[in-house]
Amino acid sequence: SVALGTTTHNAAAAAAMRVCEFVQQRRLEGKVAIVTGGARGIGEAIVRAFVRHGARVVIADIDDAAGEALAAALGGACCSYVHCDVSVEADVERAVGCCVARHGRLDVLCNNAGVLGRQAPPASNGARSGGIASLDAAEFDRVLRVNTLGAALGMKHAARAMLQRRGGGGGGSIVSVASVAGVLGGMGPHAYTASKHALVGLTKNAACELGEHGIRVNCVSPFGVATSMLVNAWRHGHHREAEEGGASAAPVSAEEVEKTEEMVRGMATLKGPTLRAGDIAEAALFLASEESRYISGHNLVVDGGVTTSRNVIG
Ligand code: NAD
Repeated sequence: SVALGTTTHNAAAAAAMRVCEFVQQRRLEGKVAIVTGGARGIGEAIVRAFVRHGARVVIADIDDAAGEALAAALGGACCSYVHCDVSVEADVERAVGCCVARHGRLDVLCNNAGVLGRQAPPASNGARSGGIASLDAAEFDRVLRVNTLGAALGMKHAARAMLQRRGGGGGGSIVSVASVAGVLGGMGPHAYTASKHALVGLTKNAACELGEHGIRVNCVSPFGVATSMLVNAWRHGHHREAEEGGASAAPVSAEEVEKTEEMVRGMATLKGPTLRAGDIAEAALFLASEESRYISGHNLVVDGGVTTSRNVIG
């Protein structure tokens, strides 16, 4: 019976260990997250990673068909969809309200929604395509409204929800998807570059303010991921961003994705791996989870070393 007792004890210990490992692997167990722009591309990869790690996720996007399909595929209990144009404050407030009404709390906001913006074609006065001399003021405004104001509005309403439940556990994590265009010049259209630099600055400011409430604010800055945004941009030289849904709604072929990935591999100083949306999702997951509990105001660049090189492009 002593031997039997030891066996039982060992089996129980092994089972407990397995539970611990499972919980450790599920780094967002019990957490509730909103991912803006989560219907496709990098946002979709973030949604999938968060759900895989135990979070209940609300996708906030303007692409209703894609957002609803993804939520249904991941299962209604852990993933739902709400229509939300991040540049419209009432939409953002409603998305946060829906999340809190459904799940009782908000722990993580991922501001991922973004647009690249159209570059004006060459002007008759000789101003070059996409050049500052042919800047389109309305387009500049649109890009900043989505990429920068959209993230700021997300921070505003997420912070309110997080502060309200401070007594019940405290803290929270806000992770925005910026870009290497928020670190260096020459990496994208003027409005896009301005919007992402502003987002990095906004992240630092919000981190300073919200730190005293235990809310961490960080961003992730990817280089080129062959999503429809990037493939369409490189295919069309930025001119053809669709009005609705951002750059990038046009479908792209597997061949185009491969070609884009090859170009990105050529630019990275790190040779070997191909940068994929899942790599950005891993970085966002790290910043969303307790594994980064002492990191705030940081911009985590995921670029295969591109921004460390003097010869960034070409
Ligand atoms: P994508 O175009 O494939 O996906 C963008 C998603 O955002 C779509 O689901 C779209 O419907 C949604 N969206 C667009 N405007 C919106 C709005 N006003 N409100 C709510 N949702 C909106 O692009 P992606 O490549 O997956 O980009 C995701 C984020 O990553 C963006 O912020 C982008 O700037 C950033 N980023 C991308 C790359 C890259 O190489 N793909 C590099 C650096 C940064």
